[in-house]
Amino acid sequence: MEQIKAANCFLLENLTIYDGTGAPPVSGDILICDGKIVALGRVDSSAVPAGAVKYDCSGLCASPGFIDVHSHSDGGIILHPEAECLIRQGITTSVGGNCGGSAGGTSFWTEKNRSKYLALGVRWEDFPGFLSAVEQVQPAVNLAMLFGHGDVRVQVLGNSGRKPTPEEKQKMFDIACEHMQAGAFGVSSGLEYVPGRFADVDELVTVSKPVAEADGIHSMHMRNEGPALFEAVQEALEVTEKSGVRFEISHLKAVGEDNWGKLPKVLEMLDEANARGIDISADVYPYLASSTELAIVLPDWVLENGKAAAVELLVEGSPVRERIVAESHARTEKQGGWDKIVVISVENPEDKWMEGLNVQEIALNSGKPPQEEALDILVSSKMRVSIIRHSMSEDDLIAAMKHPRVCFVTDGHVAVEAEGNIHPRSIGTYPRVLGRYVREKNVLTLEEAIRKMTSLPASKMQIRDRGVLKPGMAADVVIFDSDTIIDNSTFQKPWQFPSGIFGVFVNGRPVLWEGDPTGLRSGKVLRKR
Ligand SMILES: [Zn+2]
Repeated sequence: MEQIKAANCFLLENLTIYDGTGAPPVSGDILICDGKIVALGRVDSSAVPAGAVKYDCSGLCASPGFIDVHSHSDGGIILHPEAECLIRQGITTSVGGNCGGSAGGTSFWTEKNRSKYLALGVRWEDFPGFLSAVEQVQPAVNLAMLFGHGDVRVQVLGNSGRKPTPEEKQKMFDIACEHMQAGAFGVSSGLEYVPGRFADVDELVTVSKPVAEADGIHSMHMRNEGPALFEAVQEALEVTEKSGVRFEISHLKAVGEDNWGKLPKVLEMLDEANARGIDISADVYPYLASSTELAIVLPDWVLENGKAAAVELLVEGSPVRERIVAESHARTEKQGGWDKIVVISVENPEDKWMEGLNVQEIALNSGKPPQEEALDILVSSKMRVSIIRHSMSEDDLIAAMKHPRVCFVTDGHVAVEAEGNIHPRSIGTYPRVLGRYVREKNVLTLEEAIRKMTSLPASKMQIRDRGVLKPGMAADVVIFDSDTIIDNSTFQKPWQFPSGIFGVFVNGRPVLWEGDPTGLRSGKVLRKR
């Protein structure tokens, strides 16, 4: 192991090589030196430097490292730069800053987070500072960042839900320019959350224009993923048409049984737009439950003045409480009901017993109707309640998976077991696609699935030196066993790492070898040029 960790040059022999383009595999070797792929296929022995570590990989496959264009790894990567839950599933590049907010945003450096980062001797004031902070902790994987529309909005408008004035719009435009110059790969928006909920098309076009100018991408968590899904896609199309920005619909799904079967129509809408010359695509994670915050059940008007103000409206005795209960209930019934919402974490220690139970079960325990219970949980944890919502159909998921423009993502976090339970997508996404959906269900071929984890996401992000195995590319490589690869993480027991990943190289160094982390941290911060 020490020899492997110290080496700078590797000849990986007798592999089945998937190059990431979707082409069928070839048999051969891969020569890696000084962080780059030097040769692959039939490698001439005269090309192999004398000190190269040779390893017989018979029976194993190689592919480019997996590129996850939709993650929330930007906060956790500072605390856990070893990024075990990423490298153990073959991720070599993670794109953070999604759903409208990033750790590089001003809203992130809160009192709650401050002590954790200061203890590590890390702090930052802005987006460029955050990128430097990531460099300071030396992560095991590469990190690329989007900037969050929500952060820009808060920077200019504070917590207000009103529309920006022309001067304020100009300010938002200028901040977007600064972020792109600092190396962001694009912008994200989260229109189901505060403050993204308050943005209209005009405002989204404003922050998208500098992104389009720099050939970046706009990744959108749409305003609605259930009853108003088609309208939400229409809004996304309007933003891309008016701004000219390349577009990605994040974690595409149809939430709630009444909305199942809508995804094929959405995919048709995307095809039709692409036929008109609009560059719009989407990504999915391979699970039938989402992970979000309980506040998502509340109607817009409740959240208009920020979360702290919303708590005041929710408390027992508030004149609008009854109305909120009724509207939240109607909203939730339309998206599957209270028994589909499992509470994962609450802030109030007295409510910890609720973790792992669905809202219906919690309500039975306390004898209240679930809609009343939900509001009480939100009040007692000051709105900081995260949930998993079982709400999607596998037919929809499979339709999306098969679409040539849809890539695979985690929508996950960098975390460790001591921090508690999380959605299994943070731990098992890529092995789950390759095991469950490729090998067991034959939904797509192995080479096509790998393309959707490598060259497709690389091209969406315009990361030009990764995502394909060929000489001259950065040596981000995953070595795995296609017969055994599978996720082991479940909703009940998420902290079980995948099987079948043998080795992971990041920039030519093995961060995982013979199935275990080596402790090497060779990731880089990627900046858009
Ligand atoms: Zn999201």
